[in-house]
Amino acid sequence: MRPTTRGIAVVAIGLLLITSLIANLISAKPDEGGVGGPQATVNPDKDPKKIIIESNKDEKNISMYNHREKKLVVMSLEEYLLGVVAGEMPASYNEEALKAQAVAARTLTIYKMPAYGGRGCNQVSGADVCSSFAHCQEWISEDQMRKNWGDQYEDYVGKLRRVIQETSGQIMTYNGKPIEVFYHSTSNGRTEEVSEVFSNALPYYTSVESVGEENAPKFEGSVSISNQQFADKFNSKYGIKLDPNNLSSQIKINGYTDSGRIQDISVGGKKLRATDFRLLYGLNSTDISFVFGKDSITMNTKGFGHGVGMSQVGADRMADRGNNYTEILKHYYKGVEISKY
Ligand SMILES: [Zn+2]
Repeated sequence: MRPTTRGIAVVAIGLLLITSLIANLISAKPDEGGVGGPQATVNPDKDPKKIIIESNKDEKNISMYNHREKKLVVMSLEEYLLGVVAGEMPASYNEEALKAQAVAARTLTIYKMPAYGGRGCNQVSGADVCSSFAHCQEWISEDQMRKNWGDQYEDYVGKLRRVIQETSGQIMTYNGKPIEVFYHSTSNGRTEEVSEVFSNALPYYTSVESVGEENAPKFEGSVSISNQQFADKFNSKYGIKLDPNNLSSQIKINGYTDSGRIQDISVGGKKLRATDFRLLYGLNSTDISFVFGKDSITMNTKGFGHGVGMSQVGADRMADRGNNYTEILKHYYKGVEISKY
């Protein structure tokens, strides 16, 4: 996750639950490989409001701003990744999909770390990353894993540690540099070209097919509100006078992206990007169809998230069809290499 402001906003939406996003780095110190078992050096301070910056971090440790407890903690990179993969993807998913997630998450992290030329997380001084999916990427604590997984905790932690260790030190590079990583929960059947959502075109993001997601829990979404609420929200945001009595003639789709999502839309004469429209109404995606009722408007969506990069559901489907994590990543990120950072 990273951080153009616009990116942040879009992602924030996507999430009613999940997701993510995220210039150049790598100077590469070869990973000695196998950072093995995670010994977290979480700061022992008990005051959740106090921010502590530990001074003993080296390039294999990461300082993460825990946005829930409002403090900075330091831990090994691989231990951090355990919390990310646990928070970003269901642990029940195919191991090859989880490995793809681990490599994507590690790439995003290395890309952000000042020790490797990144800009860090601007939420808090000294933080390489934060634990918020709306800003950097999701991260959950061991306590949260225990709550989420119950009796399956030991199995799932073992599984995630395995996928992280088996991909130890691996990141995606393009022309020798870590790529800027975006991924999302569920596509509408195709991924989105990055410049349709974020500001810069990047050569490894093209719209690709993502097969088999139709039965995913978040493939379809829907938001219904009254015509009056729709108009009030739009008018208050854009300062126009949309008439709630005749929405169907005032909403016009100006064009679609190559992935079938809406690109630009006009509402009451005000033209805006579909990504902004999605944010305003808290929609799951920009693949939107409208149903106009007498008193209400329904916005049906396909997919969940901004649609750029790897679809997590799509990755799981590819793994179930026999693809390994390298094949999954190279499908969603064109022309990348899997390298050791
Ligand atoms: Zn952050």
